Amino acid sequence: MRDHFELTSHDGAGRCGTFSVPRAGVTVETPALLPVVNPHVQTLPPAELESTFGAQILITNSYIIHGSDDIREPIREQGLHEFLDFSGAIMTDSGSFQLAEYGEISVTTEEILSFQHEIGSDIGTPVDIPTPPDVSYEQAREELDTTQERLELAETIDTGEMLVSAPIQGSTHPSLRTEAATHARNTTLDMFPIGAVVPLLNEYRYADIVDLVAAVKDGLGQSGPVHLFGAGHPMMFALAAALGCDLFDSAAYALYARDDRYLTVRGTRQLDDLTEFPCSCEVCTTHSPAELRAMDDTTRQDLLARHNLAVSFAELRRIRQAIRAGRLLELVETRIRGHPTLVDGFRSFLDHDEWLEATDPVAKDTFFYLSAESASRPEVTRHHERLARLETPDDLLLTAGNPSESFTESWRLVPPFGPVPRPLSDVYPLTAELPDRLDREAYEAAARGVTRLVETHPDTAVTVYHDDWPAEALSLLPDRITVARLGETETDESEPTHSYSTAPDNDQ
Ligand SMILES: [Zn+2]
Repeated sequence: MRDHFELTSHDGAGRCGTFSVPRAGVTVETPALLPVVNPHVQTLPPAELESTFGAQILITNSYIIHGSDDIREPIREQGLHEFLDFSGAIMTDSGSFQLAEYGEISVTTEEILSFQHEIGSDIGTPVDIPTPPDVSYEQAREELDTTQERLELAETIDTGEMLVSAPIQGSTHPSLRTEAATHARNTTLDMFPIGAVVPLLNEYRYADIVDLVAAVKDGLGQSGPVHLFGAGHPMMFALAAALGCDLFDSAAYALYARDDRYLTVRGTRQLDDLTEFPCSCEVCTTHSPAELRAMDDTTRQDLLARHNLAVSFAELRRIRQAIRAGRLLELVETRIRGHPTLVDGFRSFLDHDEWLEATDPVAKDTFFYLSAESASRPEVTRHHERLARLETPDDLLLTAGNPSESFTESWRLVPPFGPVPRPLSDVYPLTAELPDRLDREAYEAAARGVTRLVETHPDTAVTVYHDDWPAEALSLLPDRITVARLGETETDESEPTHSYSTAPDNDQ
């Protein structure tokens, strides 16, 4: 791990940390939001970003400054902090975005890094090649080689206390993203922007974004901080934070305001469509949508930008608190209801259980089963893995009802976990709160747990007494076990165990 970045708590792959930026003398609490500030047109004064919204870090574009005769010299003389009137950390982009948009730029990595250092940037960026999504492997490979050469060059440039980022490219090829991340981790550079995801964000391709971020994290391990470059919509912050992204940047607060778009954690609304504001920020509690519509363009955009930023910063505070409380996945499960493509993103996220589990704390607050996606959470997978390691008797009942003396041991049968030895019942996550009307996925996950136990304990005779499980879940149970429904098993206790042997009443 980079020594200027310390992790303070984990939840799934999400993490809270502190990012020390030495040149600014500032420590940023992560996950954090960097408002994007245009050096020419400041939608909101940077001093207010700091005092009103609590911004500890912002990002501006050194390439624009470099190419602008009117502001270049003043900024060179005063330094960025004084010019912008911002005492937090300032990150500068290099012009790679302009390279992606216009095909060429007129600076080299040496020039722009030296320039960033000269104007007082706290975190500089080399000129990487932002390869767009869906290009051929060969093109992505070739452009990644160039990016990697520039990162190696950046390592050799003396930039004093200024940190330097190592952008990670590779288009939509996960293997290249992993390779790029491994290479970046092995440089001496300081933070890791995941580049060229904006086209994916614009098309709501959250499942693809999840796969790319997972590939990047695979290469980075716990190194950080990781910056999801261009991600500025609060509806996806929770999902991205759960993947282990530490930094987001928002140009959206200002760009959306210009088009009368109102950000919410459940998606974007048009000001024209709103009769009331569903928000308690200062703008929304002191104005109505009709009042805003009647204002001149500048005032209206200023107020919308303030709301957009307030809702974005509030979501970051909520995310940090959820991570500390071990409740991030519950927050993600509610946020993904804002758009079907976010549901796809979360399902793709849950498929990456191998690394989700690695950093997920073993003990947290109560597990809340909130939706079918809860059945695939890492806690469930981890319990299934634990089953393989537990000792079992020759003769084991798994029951949704009371224990039975006809068996050597009786364990509980609890969706979505499956078999639960009674001594573990008070241990996280088996203290889960579940709705009474469970979905099919919860039972199917429990059936997978039973299967895991049976497959890993071939010498144990397993009997299942279920409380009316759906047929889809029952069909997943292994053939060689005895299965009966509670209440339909009233026979003589002395009968040998078979499909319709004795079961206790379910008096739960
Ligand atoms: Zn508001």
